[in-house]
Amino acid sequence: MSNESIQEIVCCMGQPVAGNPSQFMMERAFAAAGLDWRYLTLEVSPDNLAAAVAGMKAMGFRGGNFTIPHKVAVIPHLKRLSEAAELMGAVNCIYREGDGFVGENTDGKGFVSALKEVVEPEGKKVVMFGAGGAARAIAVELGLSKVASVDVVNRDAGRGRDLSNLLSQRVGIESKWIPWNGTHQLAEDADIVINATSIGMCDSTAKLPVDPDSFRDSMIVADVIFNPPWTQFLQEAQDAGCRTIDGLGMLVNQGVIGFKIWTDVDPDPGVMREALEEYLQI
Ligand code: NDP
Repeated sequence: MSNESIQEIVCCMGQPVAGNPSQFMMERAFAAAGLDWRYLTLEVSPDNLAAAVAGMKAMGFRGGNFTIPHKVAVIPHLKRLSEAAELMGAVNCIYREGDGFVGENTDGKGFVSALKEVVEPEGKKVVMFGAGGAARAIAVELGLSKVASVDVVNRDAGRGRDLSNLLSQRVGIESKWIPWNGTHQLAEDADIVINATSIGMCDSTAKLPVDPDSFRDSMIVADVIFNPPWTQFLQEAQDAGCRTIDGLGMLVNQGVIGFKIWTDVDPDPGVMREALEEYLQI
């Protein structure tokens, strides 16, 4: 496609934005859907965020993704937030509405849609490792999908308590923070176990401090890590007979949701996953 034919632009803003798998995935999906759209990766410093969002408006961008460190800071520049983004207090996806942008968070939605390919979350007991941005997004969406409970296992007490309070007080599900000192023993009645920490990113040998003997074959075990997608954690879970979900599913599905929000067209998730696998050389 020539530059003259570009109809619409979306972008990803973060700092630094080095080698963005989302750009590769989205541009493939645009081409596969026959859309003359572009997905730009733009490095924006915190000082320039307001000007960058104003620039997106002025240049008629349809929307964009925001990564670290802009997920919270972008909020004052938006006209409104979705329910999930408001609860999480973080935005990773925006789309144009009239003269402004609406803030959404597709990370948790992407996770839940990957999970739903395996199991319905309603009524399930969840154990989640981590309480950072990805964990918050996933836990809130799981709460909105009416899971029975989410135990938040995290080292840092402030972040752990904050997330469990959010879940019990604002999302309305049972939740408690469990301190993570040493090796964690999974509760026998856990249905869904999720690694939402950064342990395993770019390190296939990294090990989550969880006793592998505490996995039960009835558990569904998911990891947010997408590079490499097959982690030690998933390997141990599979060895124990658990069904597993890798982080590529979440990444593809959040991309599918963003694509649909911006274009109103359903993309081909197979094309998107293939593009990611090619990019990550899996
Ligand atoms: P944050 O920095 O916000 O949170 C990181 C979390 O990991 C914190 O809870 C932190 O615990 C925990 N953690 C890190 N190292 C350790 C350790 N050695 N032991 C115990 N806990 C640890 O990151 P994000 O939540 O934004 O991202 C987490 C991961 O999810 C990243 O690798 C990111 O790439 C991935 N991700 C994947 C997506 C996908 O689509 N698959 C989408 C979004 C993110 P503490 O609070 O105690 O410091």
